[in-house]
Amino acid sequence: MSTVFGEGQGAALIVASDRNDRRVLFDVLDQQAFDEIYSAKDVSQAREFLDQGIRIDFAFVEFVEEADAAVAFCNDLLAAVQHRIPIVGIVATPGGNWGSAGLPTCVTDWLVCPVRPGDAQARLKTALAEREEAPPRPPTAVSAAAAAAVAAVADRYRFAFDGSLDELALVEPASGRILDVNDTFVHRSGYPRARLVGSDINGFDFLVPAERRQEIAAQLESESSVQMRARKPRADGGWYAVDVSIRNAVHEGRVVQFYTFREIGELSRLQAAIAALLEVGRGESRDTAEAIVQGMAQWLGFDLVLALEVPVDAAPEPSQVAAFRRFDVDADAGATHEAMLRQVLGGEEVILPAQAWSSPIVDPVLRERRYEFIAGLPVGGEREESIGALILARRDALAVDPSVQAGLHLFARALGAEFELRRARAQGRAEGLRDPLTGLPNRLLFNDRLNSAIAEAHRGGEMLAVVFVDVDRFKTINDSLGHAVGDQVLIAVARRLRSSVRSTDTVARYAGDEFTLILRHIVQREDVLRIAEKIVRAMEVPLQLPDGLELSITTSLGLSFYPDDAADAERLLKQADVAMYSAKGMGRNNFQAYVAVSEESHRQRLALEAKLRQAERNGELRVFYQPQVDARSEDIIGMEALLRWEHPELGMISPGFFVPLAEETGLIISIGEWVLRAACKEARRWCQEHGLALRLGVNLSPLQLRQPHLVRTVATVLRETGLDPHQLDLEVTESISAKTIPNLIETLNGLRDLGCGISLDDFGTGQSSLDYIRRFPADRIKIDQAFVRNIGLDPDDEAIVRATLSMAHDLNCKVVAEGVETEQHFEFLREEGCDELQGFLFCRPLSVASFDNLLKERARQLGTLGVRA
Ligand code: C2E
Ligand code: CA
Ligand code: CA
Repeated sequence: MSTVFGEGQGAALIVASDRNDRRVLFDVLDQQAFDEIYSAKDVSQAREFLDQGIRIDFAFVEFVEEADAAVAFCNDLLAAVQHRIPIVGIVATPGGNWGSAGLPTCVTDWLVCPVRPGDAQARLKTALAEREEAPPRPPTAVSAAAAAAVAAVADRYRFAFDGSLDELALVEPASGRILDVNDTFVHRSGYPRARLVGSDINGFDFLVPAERRQEIAAQLESESSVQMRARKPRADGGWYAVDVSIRNAVHEGRVVQFYTFREIGELSRLQAAIAALLEVGRGESRDTAEAIVQGMAQWLGFDLVLALEVPVDAAPEPSQVAAFRRFDVDADAGATHEAMLRQVLGGEEVILPAQAWSSPIVDPVLRERRYEFIAGLPVGGEREESIGALILARRDALAVDPSVQAGLHLFARALGAEFELRRARAQGRAEGLRDPLTGLPNRLLFNDRLNSAIAEAHRGGEMLAVVFVDVDRFKTINDSLGHAVGDQVLIAVARRLRSSVRSTDTVARYAGDEFTLILRHIVQREDVLRIAEKIVRAMEVPLQLPDGLELSITTSLGLSFYPDDAADAERLLKQADVAMYSAKGMGRNNFQAYVAVSEESHRQRLALEAKLRQAERNGELRVFYQPQVDARSEDIIGMEALLRWEHPELGMISPGFFVPLAEETGLIISIGEWVLRAACKEARRWCQEHGLALRLGVNLSPLQLRQPHLVRTVATVLRETGLDPHQLDLEVTESISAKTIPNLIETLNGLRDLGCGISLDDFGTGQSSLDYIRRFPADRIKIDQAFVRNIGLDPDDEAIVRATLSMAHDLNCKVVAEGVETEQHFEFLREEGCDELQGFLFCRPLSVASFDNLLKERARQLGTLGVRA
């Protein structure tokens, strides 16, 4: 024995025509630790191994094409090894056409091709186990022993066949005729064996449609086995659900179909439920709720299935979403299930498995129908309350085992998910009323809310306010910094607005950079003004952008009140809009309440805008010059060019009114260049006529500073007018000179390179950090009039003036004080070391003619008296 089996299993032989079969068999043998494996594609090739004297201990031999030759080979193989070895025969489907040699007794077991690894492995293991049990016998005993082995195997199958709890049948593949059935089959079906054997198997899985049968046949051909679900008929005319497994097997040398019928058990019921839900989940049905209802009805043969949904934002009166009714369609429809629904919608499950009709909580209609099984299942919902219910009824009682219960819950959960999805979709439609960027209500939703707020205020005799909010110079931010930054600004504004009001107030994105607010239950106007002030301040806080950028944004607000200003939504909004424009006209970054006349001034403003476009062309623009004096000598050292618009009807219009307008429309760029040219020309002339190299201050708008050619423009103007660049001082406002202008520092340095000076205008009003000022290339700092005005009044502002002076001097900057109106201002500033002064105390802005006179007067007095009037 040891020589044969050693540590390994010895040598194995494969004779198979199909390469794939050979590969499968080789792997199986290899796994069983055979020392040598010989593979032949036919008998003649296999004989070569025998001729070489190779001893074979196990063989897979195919009996397909040349069955007789294979039988002869097996006999020769057994003779050569001189003892009994296991040979597993391989047959094809359909097969079994044995030639003259008859059934080969040398084969100990059978396989069907195409060979499946699992089958081959099982056959091999069985064969090897038997080899251990039965020691090799002398070759003389071969045929007798082989016959005995075949009988033993057949007996063992018979035992298993009859003892099985499953229903088993052997079927002839070609005809479908039943060759044999086991006792369980006879017992369960109720038919006598005599009626079964010889009859057509297709009568016992009658729910399989014809086209499926062909599929099954094809699958058996290629894979040797098929599983399916079917209904199995009983002799009494009933049926029961079964799982059917069909396999090709070899019986007495012939390929047969081996049928196993297993009644669908507890687990299978759950599997059936899952299968039905998977069907639903494939999403082929347009109505998921309908598919769930149908699936449930099929699953356990319910006669009534109702899917009810509790609508959102409504009384908890559920509505029927889908229904299945096998009987009494009209009568069942009249049932309200009131008592049951009360429990179920409260989150409680009701299952009455038998004699349900006797329960008091069952609807009278169902009671009358004598339904045995009735159930009410709560459906989904994350909260305690159910968002729907499933009502089920069946004529027959139902044993509610754990699998049925689990299946019911699965269906209820699927329906819950569907209901949640419906709600989400409904909300999604509502999303159409929200601005996707900020998440705020959009104009549509705002209008709707405003109308209901007005109605509410009307009923309660209350006051409400509408606030129109506009981001100042948003277009400039968007254009110069890009839309991504623009979006950031809008999101920030939305957030700041939201946090400035009560949660019951409405904040909406009305359009673009316009936001609207509804403030309800207003007691007095002052409360709203305070909120408006709070919003303006909240907006001023510099905005930190992700890439380290810091942005100052301001807003202008317009307010209108119901019922004082208007009684309807449209007019209220319009008035808030008008008030907002008047806030813009007043220099932005503030709020205005609507006043009746401001509608008129709003119209004027629009008309003005049109006229401003023509002003430059019509020669209506003027430049006035306000002298600046040395704080110690009080002598004139320079002047600031200040723009005026001499309107033919309205007279002299202040830049505080029309410069913002010019900036909004972009007109400031051409107007600014015109001012620069005009002022440089005058300064050059005064220089020539009076021999005075007066410094000329010209204001630059932020919009001009964004112009990439600004330096070139200035250089051209200087060249053309002949003014010494050192005489030109460009004033840049502090509040906007923050990091919002690309290449600002480069531009300013470019101007300085030309020889011009830079003044930081309106100092103290912006948000610039000290560090920023340090890096800012300024030659001069102009203290804003707001601080100068409070000298002698506000010690805090005096402190600011002092601090500005010392800081500027530390940075080697000269300081100019603006708006010096009184002797007190003058004295304070001179004592604190301010360098230069500008204000009405010395002189108002003068027309060219007046400035000419001023200079002539000074020349007459030889400069000794200065310019003080
Ligand atoms: P700004 O640059 O601060 O100009 C100084 C303003 O203070 C001028 O107002 C001037 O008339 C006023 N002012 C001078 N002394 C006193 C005083 O003692 N008391 C008071 N209360 N005010 C005084 P104006 O001329 O109305 O100009 C207003 C603003 O318009 C300027 O403020 C400037 O920002 C802008 N602006 C004027 N001209 C131009 C221009 O050509 N281009 C640009 N971009 N802006 C200009
Ligand atoms: Ca200025
Ligand atoms: Ca100023």
